[in-house]
Amino acid sequence: MPSFATRFAPSPTGRLHRGHAFSALTAWEAARTAGGRFVLRIEDIDCARCRPEHEATILEDLAWLGLSWERPVRRQSEHMADYHQALERLRGRGLLYRDFRSRREIAQAAASAPHGFAAAASAGPHLPQSEAALLAEGRPFAWRLSMAAARCELGPAFDALSFTEQGAGPAGEHGLVPARPEVAGDIVLARKDVGVAYHLAVVVDDALQAITHVIRGQDLFEASGVQRLLQALLRLPEPVYRHHRLLTDAGGRRFAKRDRAQTLQELRAAGVTPAQLRAELGFPPL
Ligand code: GLU
Repeated sequence: MPSFATRFAPSPTGRLHRGHAFSALTAWEAARTAGGRFVLRIEDIDCARCRPEHEATILEDLAWLGLSWERPVRRQSEHMADYHQALERLRGRGLLYRDFRSRREIAQAAASAPHGFAAAASAGPHLPQSEAALLAEGRPFAWRLSMAAARCELGPAFDALSFTEQGAGPAGEHGLVPARPEVAGDIVLARKDVGVAYHLAVVVDDALQAITHVIRGQDLFEASGVQRLLQALLRLPEPVYRHHRLLTDAGGRRFAKRDRAQTLQELRAAGVTPAQLRAELGFPPL
């Protein structure tokens, strides 16, 4: 088994833009340099927002960029059973609780909470009626991870949790970084609407796909602390992290899927070649 494996994990909710190209190329080049594996994963658990046509364009764009990846491509929507199994393991140990609140109720609680959103979202299930009654009514709920229960289970290891950063966090974090997962509050591990949430699906897949290096943008730096906790609770191997800077446009704004002019499709239609884009993004010629 190669000792280096990394991935690019787009959500097919829109077209890829320059920022995605930078991220995908960063991961792909790292795999190439290390003689390791490069995995493409389609993160499409949110069926309402993801579209097959976006997935098709993503594959087309990445191939146009000159990237190649292992097949078959893992599509998260086809592996819900894996995520539910992980969820059950945590639930069986009393680490999760049901949250029946609506987004609006949580936002209201956050507005009046002295410590902001994470604390408001964490403050327990807040049941106006008994849980049994709500369940009997068929009211939908999300599963949240209780940070207090996780701390109790892991003991001193909870506060000692850290991850290895080989790139840099937004404030230049590098080396052994304290995970501090409690900062995120009691995170949702299973959404009401889709039955699983991003953090859980990602750690399960990174382990199943034997990812050794998680290479991604600094926007996901905070997520790493939470994901490190889930790896510890689920006894999954610990990858190394490399967060890279985020590309911005001339006005200093991050590229977003809504900026149509910067999508790879538009760039291609405007006659930009993959070689030009690679060079512009600071990568050597193929
Ligand atoms: N699917 C996530 C995104 O498109 C990336 C997840 C990850 O790299 O961990 O932002």
